[in-house]
Amino acid sequence: MSVRVRFAPSPTGALHIGGIRTALYNYLLARQKGGQFIIRIEDTDRNRYVPGAEEYILEALHWCGIVPDESPVNGGSFGPYRQSERLDIYQQHARMLLDRGWAYYAFDSAGLLDAKREVAQAAGGAFQYGAATRMELENSLTLPAEEVSARLQRGDAYVIRFKMPADEEVVAHDMVRGEVRFRTAGLDDKVLMKSDGWPTYHLANVVDDHLMQITHVIRGEEWLPSVGLHVMLYRAFGWSDTMPAFGHLPLILRPDGKGKLSKRDGAKFGFPVFPLSWLGQSADDSFVGFREFGFEPEAVVNFLALLGWNPGSEQEVFSLNGLVAAFDMAKVNKSGARFDFDKALWYNQQHLLQRDDAILTTQVRMLLNEKGHQPGTEQLDLFVSMFKERVTFLYEYWEKGAFCFEELYEYDEAAVQQKWKHGRAQQLLELAHTWTKLHT
Ligand code: GLU
Repeated sequence: MSVRVRFAPSPTGALHIGGIRTALYNYLLARQKGGQFIIRIEDTDRNRYVPGAEEYILEALHWCGIVPDESPVNGGSFGPYRQSERLDIYQQHARMLLDRGWAYYAFDSAGLLDAKREVAQAAGGAFQYGAATRMELENSLTLPAEEVSARLQRGDAYVIRFKMPADEEVVAHDMVRGEVRFRTAGLDDKVLMKSDGWPTYHLANVVDDHLMQITHVIRGEEWLPSVGLHVMLYRAFGWSDTMPAFGHLPLILRPDGKGKLSKRDGAKFGFPVFPLSWLGQSADDSFVGFREFGFEPEAVVNFLALLGWNPGSEQEVFSLNGLVAAFDMAKVNKSGARFDFDKALWYNQQHLLQRDDAILTTQVRMLLNEKGHQPGTEQLDLFVSMFKERVTFLYEYWEKGAFCFEELYEYDEAAVQQKWKHGRAQQLLELAHTWTKLHT
């Protein structure tokens, strides 16, 4: 069976680089195995929907060269690829589970559930809507059938919940972590369909992975606790035989190793944590991207690939194709990967250094043209070779080398004060005189 993987972001804002890394690992696996890489937009949480986020995500992936085979934009034979356009599919599948006794209608008001939570909390515990409590609540398992139909017909608010078995052990294999085990007693009866008729993440995600014939689910570690429910959902639908393989990626940690790298850490440490800049509603929600910082996309991809994976060799600098050849899910680390911005800078420098001379010179020529200079070939080659080892970013060819083309009228006063001692003018004149004599 051909490998089919997906990246399934929710358009709730700018996509953190951790998301790009998830997309990248999926992409690398697909390319290596000659399979398909799919982008599916999981936009069923309308409260968290942010306009422009989907466009941002697609543009960021495009910038990184992570090109999908199927997506909301390029289509494919398993579409639609936006969950908001698949609502009837989820309704139909929720009905299947109701019919098979794996799901039920729950009519409990938010107020009643809050009260239950408070009572449980006061007693030092936590309320769980599940096997132990469901028979004391207002649902289609406890109410007479006529009452349930009457309520549904009347249009009373309800959700559809999964009926989690009372106490079973669920065992799943994770490509990164090996065997993972869950006891269903610790899992609640998750809501599958919300009262607004929209599915929750769990239902939509499992149904789509099945219908889109996904073979490997590679995603962030935060989804590991959902595996128990997902395995049970596959079982309930009768799809256990074609259940995808799971792989949960390690967290990206702050540079000091103290917890997960968050979007706020960028501002705190002075480096980007987003691929592209994002202009949110407030300054607090606006971030500078790796692209705008001056990074080359292939350096960012290289940096992210090695954040949580290693090739098992000394090699560090990889092109995207090189990564496709070397990537191996079995070498993804279990423990969190520390974000090291200096390493990102190093990758950028390495990628510029290893860039084909003809391409690099053309880029530098364009940069100089923009500044109003048209160097000859010889001058340009000399200029590039002079600065090649000294730049980390492409724009630095100008920042560091402008003096080769223009007289600089601004200079660092403090540095001059420090160095300009009495008699320097005379010494310099003598030096100039000696050099002139040497050259004539
Ligand atoms: N929509 C989920 C997210 O935003 C996808 C998780 C998954 O890949 O299953 O991360």
